[in-house]
Amino acid sequence: MAQRRALALDNGSTLHIVTTERSDGDFGINAEPKALDERRRSHCDLSWSVPIQVHGRAVIEVAGAASNGAEGDGLVTADLDRPLAIQTADCAPVVLYGPGSWFAVAHAGWRGLEAGVVEATVARLQQCGGVVDAAWVGPCIGAECYTFSEPDLARLTTRFGPAIVACNAEGEPSFDLRAAIAVTMGRLGVERVEISDACTACRRDLFSHRARGEAQRMATVAWTER
Ligand SMILES: [Zn+2]
Repeated sequence: MAQRRALALDNGSTLHIVTTERSDGDFGINAEPKALDERRRSHCDLSWSVPIQVHGRAVIEVAGAASNGAEGDGLVTADLDRPLAIQTADCAPVVLYGPGSWFAVAHAGWRGLEAGVVEATVARLQQCGGVVDAAWVGPCIGAECYTFSEPDLARLTTRFGPAIVACNAEGEPSFDLRAAIAVTMGRLGVERVEISDACTACRRDLFSHRARGEAQRMATVAWTER
């Protein structure tokens, strides 16, 4: 069942965050359109903005109307009742917010993180006049399940520091995506960071591309309401 939370913001509005699970169905943008629309509406009956994700650092500002069909891995808005959503299976869904009306979602896997998607999303929020001091990070693949090659890990260590190096149960080197996100948030001065410890590979009620080759995706959708 989808995980829901409602956070009271300093400006008096409420930030809703919903993350779906396997039992909620496929939220990938290539799912059958009518079924996908019904799934979305069952969780948030407003017009969702969902980018075409490319593991990059492009950020889309959503204002006035829903945005769909644009390539990007971050979305920002200050509009009420304007749901921003991303789709994941192993990559981390990130929601960034602060005391004001601006908030953002970002799709953060190792490639996007290395490319700087979180930094770019925060920068875009700030350019728009937003303030970010808090982040929520949903289920992603855990370090115990994310075996990596030594050259890739060495490069990522240069980028994020030694905290991102872990190992799996067999002692093979692995990448700690959550640690890389935590390092990034620390550098950005985002003080309140909540990171789910749910692993998409370990948890059979979540989708995993890496562990099970699944093509379906979970959605993380966030929106503010007065
Ligand atoms: Zn795991």
